[in-house]
Amino acid sequence: MARYTGPVCRLCRREGLKLFLKGERCYTGKCAIDRRAYAPGQHGQARAKKPTEYGLQLREKQKARRMYGVMEKQFRHYFDEAARRKGVTGENLLTLLERRLDNVIFHLGFASSRPEARQLVNHGHFTINGKKVDIASYSVRVGEIIAVKEGSKSSPRMKQLLENLGSRTVPGWISLDANTAAGTIVALPTREDIQLPIQEHLIVEKYSR
Ligand code: SF4
Repeated sequence: MARYTGPVCRLCRREGLKLFLKGERCYTGKCAIDRRAYAPGQHGQARAKKPTEYGLQLREKQKARRMYGVMEKQFRHYFDEAARRKGVTGENLLTLLERRLDNVIFHLGFASSRPEARQLVNHGHFTINGKKVDIASYSVRVGEIIAVKEGSKSSPRMKQLLENLGSRTVPGWISLDANTAAGTIVALPTREDIQLPIQEHLIVEKYSR
């Protein structure tokens, strides 16, 4: 699956908020948005124009897409699926994105950011109910146990990540067993579980134009 390979701090500066795409660096003084709090590019420091309605909708969609690391085509698929399901389309969209395996790995603390989680999943470091799964977009289900593969626990990076699991706070729909480096999906996420600053109704309006 295609993915964005350009400079990620630029995406945060474009959206005007921290998207936490670089792991530990995002929490240090090296964060680009702290050092250059204006949009990237030649006109980034020009006086901001009042955004149009369409502009607001577009930015909201881009923000959600970039937070979850999903390309446009796949994001559209998520939207279509959300619209087909019963309930509120915007909420369905966010809960579908939230169920992605790379997002769950990030929540569990097995990776320091969603992009790192995606890479670790692609490299086959995790199992679901004991079987290796290396598809970052895999949609987790209630009762599934997501664990770090035994053979991967000894890698220096994984050791470093697992050391901090004890202090990890995970959302209520996931439970984490720090001793075994495994998490269980105890419920499907609801809108209230998703703390990201996304106004999903703007995304729905964008796609409904
Ligand atoms: Fe965004 Fe992290 Fe880069 Fe800061 S360091 S601009 S939060 S990706």
